[in-house]
Amino acid sequence: VEGAPMTAASIDQLSQHFPLCMRSLHMNLRKNNHLKHFGRLQYTLFLKGIGLSLEECILFWRQGFKGFTDDEFNSRYKYNIRHAYGDVGGDANRRGRGYAPYSCQKILGDTGSGAGQTHGCPYRHYSVDNLISLLQSTGVTDKELLRGVREDVERTRYHIACNRVFDWTHKAEIKKVKEDGTWSQANLDTLSHPNAYFKRSYLLKN
Ligand code: SF4
Repeated sequence: VEGAPMTAASIDQLSQHFPLCMRSLHMNLRKNNHLKHFGRLQYTLFLKGIGLSLEECILFWRQGFKGFTDDEFNSRYKYNIRHAYGDVGGDANRRGRGYAPYSCQKILGDTGSGAGQTHGCPYRHYSVDNLISLLQSTGVTDKELLRGVREDVERTRYHIACNRVFDWTHKAEIKKVKEDGTWSQANLDTLSHPNAYFKRSYLLKN
């Protein structure tokens, strides 16, 4: 996103604009100084998608993984980050590009998220109680909103719950751009990609 400060050091601050799937990964990384493989992959591709360079992404993970020597970090983790960016490995098609950041559809369809895993979509893969506490820990506490989220989740309308939270957390900004006429309705259509969520949030709040 143009104008966003894309460095390893800015991710903590930018994470306020992340959808819950990525926010949760970020919070887990900061809490445990580590993330398991699929969480790292989901999060790395998202960070690539928001415009973080490969060098800054490696620095971000290096600083985030405390308790490892440089050699351990390089031999266990660095290759996969470079691979996700298309810097190494892959077939000719992917070279130079790596893998595409995951859409909601891809993340929601992932059935591999279970105990001890932090990747996936919290609306779909977390228990409702864990989901609600996670939302509350990010400042989403409005009772009526949380009731709506529960209903969406019960009806398996996971990304609608996510959009509901987006609309609530950006309600002042959305009202303003609608009144100003600076954003068309098309710019506020239902979100279906974590990177689009970030971009819209960043643009609305900056
Ligand atoms: Fe992430 Fe999409 Fe789930 Fe929202 S609906 S938390 S953007 S995977």
